[in-house]
Amino acid sequence: MTKRKLAFFILSGLILLFLIVTGFNTFTVRSKQPSPHPAKMTINQDEAVQHLSKAITFKTVSYQDRSKFDFKEFDRFITFLQESFPEVHQKLSFEKVNGYALVYKWKGSDASKNPIGLTSHYDVVPVLKGTEANWKQDPFSGAVVDGRIWGRGTLDDKIGVTGILQAVDYLLKEGYEPDRDMYFMFGFDEEIGGDEGASKIVDALKARGITFEYVLDEGGAIVEKMVPGVTQPVGVVGISEKGSATAELSIEGSGGHSSQPKDHTNIGRIASAIAKLEDTQFKGDLRGPGEDMFEFVAPEMSFGMKYVFANKAIFKPVIEKILLGQPASAALIRTTIAPTIFQAGEQYNALPEKASAIINLRIMPGDSLNEVKRFIEDTIEDDDIKVTVTGSEASKVSSVNSWQFKSIQQAARNVYRDAVIAPYLMFAGSDARQYDPVAKNTYRFLPVQITSEDLNRMHGTNEHVSIENYINAIKFYVEVIREGNKGKSVE
Ligand SMILES: [Zn+2]
Repeated sequence: MTKRKLAFFILSGLILLFLIVTGFNTFTVRSKQPSPHPAKMTINQDEAVQHLSKAITFKTVSYQDRSKFDFKEFDRFITFLQESFPEVHQKLSFEKVNGYALVYKWKGSDASKNPIGLTSHYDVVPVLKGTEANWKQDPFSGAVVDGRIWGRGTLDDKIGVTGILQAVDYLLKEGYEPDRDMYFMFGFDEEIGGDEGASKIVDALKARGITFEYVLDEGGAIVEKMVPGVTQPVGVVGISEKGSATAELSIEGSGGHSSQPKDHTNIGRIASAIAKLEDTQFKGDLRGPGEDMFEFVAPEMSFGMKYVFANKAIFKPVIEKILLGQPASAALIRTTIAPTIFQAGEQYNALPEKASAIINLRIMPGDSLNEVKRFIEDTIEDDDIKVTVTGSEASKVSSVNSWQFKSIQQAARNVYRDAVIAPYLMFAGSDARQYDPVAKNTYRFLPVQITSEDLNRMHGTNEHVSIENYINAIKFYVEVIREGNKGKSVE
């Protein structure tokens, strides 16, 4: 055999081995989706729709300026809940924390088990001035038109409040009793951070020594065409929230006349610092919740994509490159940089003595504020620029292999049997992070199947939910309560 022939045989052998190994990996990928076993239930649709519709009519609007809150509306909303769900208020204990945060406790039969908490919020974002006329139905009408319920809060997040209470009402009427204590907790200032609502609920529960097996809040929804290569709709359950921080870059000194400028002015140096940061970017790394998401989604992918993800160890650089190509997927695997404010100069012929820029950063789990600051300083390489970083790091990352996650996944599959339910990383903040100190796990899921346009309506115009989705959301809450009380031992 000539040397060339030998080399050819070795090479072909290696290629064959590579194909066998990677092919084996691909064919042995197992689905992580449990088979659905839905409970039979008939939700009283008319009554349920009427409750959500009415809930929308209260202007429980959150404003950054807390003095603008109209608490009469919040009081009226609470009265509405008491009148609409008499049995729930009769059988469960009910308390107001800090005036307007609501806590319901459904006592379980087994005191040795840790409780589960379901949470949502009844404040809503304001309707942007000037956009009122663009609404097909008045945002506070709760109009029921074309099989949909319209208005602010139909998705974010009065659907959670009445959806959960409707589910509890259903279970009470059925004579159901939970094993473990169930808590239903509703914030009233989630849209401005939850400091007076969820945070105060957590203080109260912490003082009582309560530890939840998990707390489930609003979060990812089920969306069609969400992941390339997956034909089924994908529902994502947030297992962590990115942190949000503000970096300020500032430089001071030696302005002078614009007729004899130095080569590098204050504006030039801040601009150059930002350009360097944008060119460099934080390193993308498929790990943590982003990696978990693909572990769950890959088995459902078409062959080509499945091949790549089943052999992640080999193709990781390729996958990361693809993910970094789109802002939405890039945000899943790296800390993001968004320069939002640039300030310098007052007069056309005077060099400013000061220049500064603000960058909004969304921090990956595992990255600390100190590391972020160091990365900025190392990248901009300009010691005269002062860098400060303030804000919050990412929330803790909850387990995806726990019975807690699996029970939520099961509940979702029972209602949305074709959906792929996977964990993911939330980019936006929610009340869920407040519960981290009193919960082993915090999850974030909005149990509706919607489009990406619907997602934009959540803080925008024409927010609505279909009646079918609303009924499914109620069914999901019934399922999740049942799944959470199926005799799992304390972990
Ligand atoms: Zn919300």
